[in-house]
Amino acid sequence: MKKLEQIYEGKAKRVFLTDDPDLVIVDYKDDATAFNGAKKGTIVGKGVINNQMSNRLMQRLEAAGIPTHFVQELSERETLVKKVSIVPLEVIIRNISAGSFAAHYGVEEGIVFEHPTIEFSYKCDELNDPLLNDYHALALKLATRDEIERIKQMAFQVNEVLKAFWAECGVTLVDFKLEFGRLADGTIILADEISPDTCRLWDAKTHEKLDKDRFRRDLGGVEGAYAEVMKRLLAHG
Ligand code: UDP
Repeated sequence: MKKLEQIYEGKAKRVFLTDDPDLVIVDYKDDATAFNGAKKGTIVGKGVINNQMSNRLMQRLEAAGIPTHFVQELSERETLVKKVSIVPLEVIIRNISAGSFAAHYGVEEGIVFEHPTIEFSYKCDELNDPLLNDYHALALKLATRDEIERIKQMAFQVNEVLKAFWAECGVTLVDFKLEFGRLADGTIILADEISPDTCRLWDAKTHEKLDKDRFRRDLGGVEGAYAEVMKRLLAHG
Protein backbone atom coordinates (compact mmCIF):
# COMPACT_ATOMS: atom_id res chain seq x y z
CA MET A 1 0.00 0.00 0.00
CA LYS A 2 1.56 3.29 -1.13
CA LYS A 3 1.16 6.39 1.05
CA LEU A 4 0.43 9.26 -1.34
CA GLU A 5 -0.29 12.94 -0.73
CA GLN A 6 -1.82 14.36 2.42
CA ILE A 7 -5.45 15.34 1.91
CA TYR A 8 -6.26 16.60 5.39
CA GLU A 9 -4.60 17.73 8.57
CA GLY A 10 -6.73 17.93 11.68
CA LYS A 11 -5.89 18.77 15.27
CA ALA A 12 -4.73 15.26 16.16
CA LYS A 13 -4.42 13.37 12.86
CA ARG A 14 -3.28 13.62 9.28
CA VAL A 15 -4.97 11.75 6.44
CA PHE A 16 -3.17 10.53 3.30
CA LEU A 17 -4.40 9.11 0.02
CA THR A 18 -3.22 5.66 -1.05
CA ASP A 19 -3.03 3.91 -4.41
CA ASP A 20 -6.45 2.40 -3.62
CA PRO A 21 -9.17 5.07 -4.08
CA ASP A 22 -11.34 3.44 -1.39
CA LEU A 23 -8.67 3.50 1.33
CA VAL A 24 -6.78 6.24 3.16
CA ILE A 25 -4.05 6.24 5.81
CA VAL A 26 -4.58 8.01 9.12
CA ASP A 27 -1.44 9.18 10.94
CA TYR A 28 -1.88 10.08 14.64
CA LYS A 29 0.02 13.04 16.12
CA ASP A 30 0.94 13.87 19.72
CA ASP A 31 -0.63 17.34 19.38
CA ALA A 32 -3.43 18.05 21.82
CA THR A 33 -5.96 20.86 21.71
CA ALA A 34 -8.90 21.75 23.89
CA PHE A 35 -11.62 24.39 23.99
CA ASN A 36 -11.86 24.44 20.20
CA GLY A 37 -8.13 24.99 19.72
CA ALA A 38 -7.75 27.74 22.34
CA LYS A 39 -5.51 25.48 24.46
CA LYS A 40 -2.66 23.72 22.68
CA GLY A 41 -0.03 21.28 23.84
CA THR A 42 1.71 17.98 23.31
CA ILE A 43 0.99 14.70 25.02
CA VAL A 44 4.11 12.64 24.39
CA GLY A 45 3.23 9.21 23.03
CA LYS A 46 -0.47 10.01 22.65
CA GLY A 47 -0.51 9.34 18.91
CA VAL A 48 0.77 5.80 19.40
CA ILE A 49 -1.72 5.07 22.20
CA ASN A 50 -4.71 6.58 20.41
CA ASN A 51 -3.90 4.72 17.20
CA GLN A 52 -3.51 1.36 18.90
CA MET A 53 -6.41 1.83 21.32
CA SER A 54 -8.82 3.02 18.67
CA ASN A 55 -7.90 0.08 16.44
CA ARG A 56 -8.42 -2.48 19.18
CA LEU A 57 -11.76 -0.97 20.18
CA MET A 58 -12.92 -0.77 16.56
CA GLN A 59 -12.03 -4.43 16.06
CA ARG A 60 -14.13 -5.30 19.11
CA LEU A 61 -17.01 -3.30 17.70
CA GLU A 62 -16.67 -5.05 14.34
CA ALA A 63 -16.81 -8.39 16.14
CA ALA A 64 -20.04 -7.21 17.79
CA GLY A 65 -21.53 -6.45 14.37
CA ILE A 66 -20.90 -2.70 14.15
CA PRO A 67 -19.30 -1.70 10.84
CA THR A 68 -16.24 0.56 11.24
CA HIS A 69 -13.64 2.15 8.98
CA PHE A 70 -10.80 0.01 10.39
CA VAL A 71 -8.84 -2.02 7.84
CA GLN A 72 -5.28 -2.60 9.06
CA GLU A 73 -2.76 -1.16 11.50
CA LEU A 74 0.32 -0.23 9.47
CA SER A 75 2.68 1.10 12.14
CA GLU A 76 2.69 2.57 15.64
CA ARG A 77 0.94 5.70 14.43
CA GLU A 78 -0.52 4.75 11.06
CA THR A 79 -3.68 2.87 10.15
CA LEU A 80 -5.29 2.00 6.87
CA VAL A 81 -8.99 2.88 6.97
CA LYS A 82 -11.92 2.96 4.57
CA LYS A 83 -12.35 6.31 2.87
CA VAL A 84 -15.63 7.91 3.89
CA SER A 85 -17.28 11.26 3.66
CA ILE A 86 -17.75 12.30 7.26
CA VAL A 87 -21.29 13.09 8.42
CA PRO A 88 -20.72 16.54 9.97
CA LEU A 89 -22.17 15.58 13.36
CA GLU A 90 -20.38 14.90 16.61
CA VAL A 91 -22.43 12.24 18.32
CA ILE A 92 -22.08 12.28 22.09
CA ILE A 93 -23.30 9.52 24.37
CA ARG A 94 -23.28 9.98 28.13
CA ASN A 95 -23.68 7.45 30.91
CA ILE A 96 -22.68 9.78 33.76
CA SER A 97 -22.84 13.58 34.09
CA ALA A 98 -19.58 15.40 33.35
CA GLY A 99 -18.06 18.20 31.30
CA SER A 100 -20.41 20.38 29.28
CA PHE A 101 -23.48 18.44 30.50
CA ALA A 102 -22.70 19.22 34.13
CA ALA A 103 -21.93 22.86 33.26
CA HIS A 104 -24.95 23.31 30.99
CA TYR A 105 -27.53 21.88 33.37
CA GLY A 106 -25.90 23.03 36.62
CA VAL A 107 -25.35 19.59 38.15
CA GLU A 108 -22.28 17.98 39.66
CA GLU A 109 -20.16 15.46 37.80
CA GLY A 110 -20.73 11.81 38.58
CA ILE A 111 -24.52 11.42 38.45
CA VAL A 112 -25.15 7.96 36.98
CA PHE A 113 -28.00 8.08 34.45
CA GLU A 114 -30.67 5.39 34.38
CA HIS A 115 -30.58 5.60 30.57
CA PRO A 116 -27.71 6.90 28.45
CA THR A 117 -28.25 10.23 26.66
CA ILE A 118 -27.42 11.15 23.11
CA GLU A 119 -26.77 14.57 21.63
CA PHE A 120 -25.49 15.97 18.37
CA SER A 121 -23.21 18.88 17.65
CA TYR A 122 -22.74 20.38 14.22
CA LYS A 123 -19.08 19.70 13.33
CA CYS A 124 -18.06 23.24 12.47
CA ASP A 125 -15.09 24.88 14.22
CA GLU A 126 -15.99 28.40 13.04
CA LEU A 127 -19.35 28.08 14.83
CA ASN A 128 -17.81 26.33 17.85
CA ASP A 129 -19.61 23.00 17.18
CA PRO A 130 -23.11 24.16 18.15
CA LEU A 131 -25.51 21.67 19.69
CA LEU A 132 -28.43 20.68 17.47
CA ASN A 133 -31.27 18.19 17.42
CA ASP A 134 -32.52 15.80 14.72
CA TYR A 135 -34.78 18.42 13.17
CA HIS A 136 -31.95 20.93 12.88
CA ALA A 137 -29.70 18.28 11.32
CA LEU A 138 -32.44 17.48 8.80
CA ALA A 139 -33.13 21.16 8.05
CA LEU A 140 -29.43 21.75 7.45
CA LYS A 141 -29.30 18.57 5.29
CA LEU A 142 -26.42 17.21 7.37
CA ALA A 143 -27.96 13.73 7.23
CA THR A 144 -31.19 12.05 6.15
CA ARG A 145 -33.86 10.79 8.55
CA ASP A 146 -32.75 7.19 7.92
CA GLU A 147 -29.10 8.08 8.49
CA ILE A 148 -29.92 9.82 11.78
CA GLU A 149 -31.89 6.77 12.97
CA ARG A 150 -29.08 4.43 11.97
CA ILE A 151 -26.47 6.64 13.66
CA LYS A 152 -28.47 6.71 16.91
CA GLN A 153 -28.94 2.95 16.87
CA MET A 154 -25.23 2.34 16.19
CA ALA A 155 -24.11 4.87 18.81
CA PHE A 156 -26.14 3.20 21.59
CA GLN A 157 -24.87 -0.21 20.45
CA VAL A 158 -21.28 1.08 20.59
CA ASN A 159 -22.00 2.31 24.12
CA GLU A 160 -23.17 -1.12 25.29
CA VAL A 161 -20.11 -2.89 23.86
CA LEU A 162 -17.57 -0.35 25.11
CA LYS A 163 -19.17 0.12 28.54
CA ALA A 164 -19.01 -3.63 29.17
CA PHE A 165 -15.45 -3.94 27.89
CA TRP A 166 -14.10 -0.97 29.86
CA ALA A 167 -15.83 -2.31 32.99
CA GLU A 168 -13.82 -5.52 32.59
CA CYS A 169 -10.71 -3.31 32.58
CA GLY A 170 -11.73 -1.58 35.81
CA VAL A 171 -12.61 1.59 33.90
CA THR A 172 -15.94 3.45 33.84
CA LEU A 173 -17.01 4.81 30.47
CA VAL A 174 -18.49 8.18 31.44
CA ASP A 175 -19.13 9.69 28.01
CA PHE A 176 -17.66 9.76 24.51
CA LYS A 177 -17.89 11.32 21.08
CA LEU A 178 -18.32 9.37 17.85
CA GLU A 179 -18.17 10.37 14.21
CA PHE A 180 -19.75 8.44 11.38
CA GLY A 181 -18.97 8.35 7.67
CA ARG A 182 -20.65 7.34 4.44
CA LEU A 183 -19.06 4.85 2.08
CA ALA A 184 -19.41 5.46 -1.67
CA ASP A 185 -22.60 3.33 -1.67
CA GLY A 186 -24.10 5.37 1.19
CA THR A 187 -23.57 2.80 3.96
CA ILE A 188 -23.01 4.44 7.33
CA ILE A 189 -19.97 3.19 9.23
CA LEU A 190 -18.19 4.26 12.40
CA ALA A 191 -15.15 6.46 11.61
CA ASP A 192 -12.68 8.80 13.36
CA GLU A 193 -11.20 7.49 16.63
CA ILE A 194 -12.12 6.14 20.06
CA SER A 195 -9.45 7.11 22.56
CA PRO A 196 -8.82 9.04 25.78
CA ASP A 197 -9.03 12.16 23.57
CA THR A 198 -12.65 11.39 22.75
CA CYS A 199 -13.90 9.46 25.80
CA ARG A 200 -14.10 10.22 29.50
CA LEU A 201 -12.65 7.23 31.29
CA TRP A 202 -12.60 7.06 35.09
CA ASP A 203 -10.96 4.50 37.31
CA ALA A 204 -13.91 2.34 38.41
CA LYS A 205 -12.94 2.41 42.09
CA THR A 206 -11.28 5.78 42.72
CA HIS A 207 -13.01 7.72 39.90
CA GLU A 208 -9.59 9.12 38.99
CA LYS A 209 -9.71 10.72 35.54
CA LEU A 210 -7.75 8.71 32.96
CA ASP A 211 -8.44 10.83 29.88
CA LYS A 212 -7.97 14.19 28.19
CA ASP A 213 -9.63 16.05 31.07
CA ARG A 214 -6.21 15.83 32.74
CA PHE A 215 -4.90 18.02 29.91
CA ARG A 216 -8.00 20.26 29.64
CA ARG A 217 -8.01 20.97 33.37
CA ASP A 218 -4.23 20.98 33.99
CA LEU A 219 -4.47 18.08 36.42
CA GLY A 220 -0.97 16.76 35.60
CA GLY A 221 -0.10 13.13 34.93
CA VAL A 222 -1.54 13.28 31.42
CA GLU A 223 0.91 10.85 29.75
CA GLY A 224 0.64 8.49 32.73
CA ALA A 225 -3.15 8.39 32.48
CA TYR A 226 -3.09 7.54 28.75
CA ALA A 227 -0.49 4.84 29.41
CA GLU A 228 -2.54 3.44 32.30
CA VAL A 229 -5.77 2.98 30.31
CA MET A 230 -3.80 1.45 27.44
CA LYS A 231 -2.12 -0.98 29.84
CA ARG A 232 -5.50 -2.03 31.25
CA LEU A 233 -6.95 -2.46 27.79
CA LEU A 234 -4.03 -4.66 26.69
CA ALA A 235 -4.33 -6.74 29.88
CA HIS A 236 -7.94 -7.54 28.98
CA GLY A 237 -7.63 -8.57 25.42
N1 UDP B 1 -15.58 15.34 22.90
C1 UDP B 1 -14.70 15.19 21.84
N2 UDP B 1 -14.55 16.23 20.96
C2 UDP B 1 -15.20 17.40 21.09
C3 UDP B 1 -16.10 17.55 22.16
C4 UDP B 1 -16.27 16.51 23.05
O1 UDP B 1 -14.10 14.14 21.68
O2 UDP B 1 -15.01 18.29 20.24
C5 UDP B 1 -15.78 14.23 23.85
C6 UDP B 1 -15.18 14.53 25.21
O3 UDP B 1 -13.88 14.01 25.32
C7 UDP B 1 -16.12 13.82 26.15
C8 UDP B 1 -17.47 13.83 25.42
O4 UDP B 1 -17.17 14.08 24.05
O5 UDP B 1 -15.72 12.47 26.31
C9 UDP B 1 -18.42 14.87 25.94
O6 UDP B 1 -17.81 16.13 25.94
P1 UDP B 1 -18.53 17.42 26.52
O7 UDP B 1 -19.72 17.74 25.69
O8 UDP B 1 -18.77 17.23 27.97
O9 UDP B 1 -17.54 18.60 26.21
P2 UDP B 1 -16.24 19.12 26.96
O10 UDP B 1 -16.59 19.25 28.41
O11 UDP B 1 -15.20 18.10 26.67
O12 UDP B 1 -16.00 20.42 26.28
